[in-house]
Amino acid sequence: MRYLILSDLHANLQALDAVVAAATGHYDQALCCGDLVGYGANPNPVVEWVRAHCSHVVRGNHDKACTGLDDLEWFNPVARHAALWTQHALSPDNTEFARQLPKGPLLIENFELVHGSPYDEDEYVLAVDEATQAFNYLERRLTFFGHTHVQGGFIWNRSRVETIARTSLRCDSQVIEIDRDCAYLVNPGSIGQPRDGDPRAAYVLYDSDASMLTYYRVEYDVAGAQKAIRNAGLPDILADRLSVGR
Ligand code: ZN
Repeated sequence: MRYLILSDLHANLQALDAVVAAATGHYDQALCCGDLVGYGANPNPVVEWVRAHCSHVVRGNHDKACTGLDDLEWFNPVARHAALWTQHALSPDNTEFARQLPKGPLLIENFELVHGSPYDEDEYVLAVDEATQAFNYLERRLTFFGHTHVQGGFIWNRSRVETIARTSLRCDSQVIEIDRDCAYLVNPGSIGQPRDGDPRAAYVLYDSDASMLTYYRVEYDVAGAQKAIRNAGLPDILADRLSVGR
């Protein structure tokens, strides 16, 4: 089976469109690690695409905050502003869909999906020590996660945990062959708001028969997404950061 793994779409329709255009024909099933909404200006079309195309989706912290499942006290003022805006913008059907998303981990075939970490859906796995702890909780040797908006992840090679760097700025993709004796925490990166210094939208294709996964980066209409954010009256920083991927 060939899987398209998406994460942290954050209501960025321009970025999602570019990923769909690039990935169509190369996957059989689409999966999502959460944060469909929050920050971006097009929550309804993004949720509708996920509803129509993703077979499995775990919820993200923004999906909870934007549907009233979580209070906003842990959110900074910009994220809170965007969450309140999204609560008003989302249609009742899309709110209900986002509100009913399951908490990770979600088991699919021989791997898992989580939003943050396997032991806490809201935890950030950014560094090797956090990944080392996360590996202790894995029930499968391959887990896809999001939340950090940093493409890459971690490999446990039986003796230690190593970082998988994001795809180089000079390349569009990077292939990893899965070694059955190792374990993997794989972050496809963020579609809607990358924070790893590369403004291109990020995703992963995983071929479970060939035991191969490929990280991708794709350029999209950043100016269009920024214009939509400004027109919606969302904070300028949410538009500005898309240019730099920070
Ligand atoms: Zn996110």
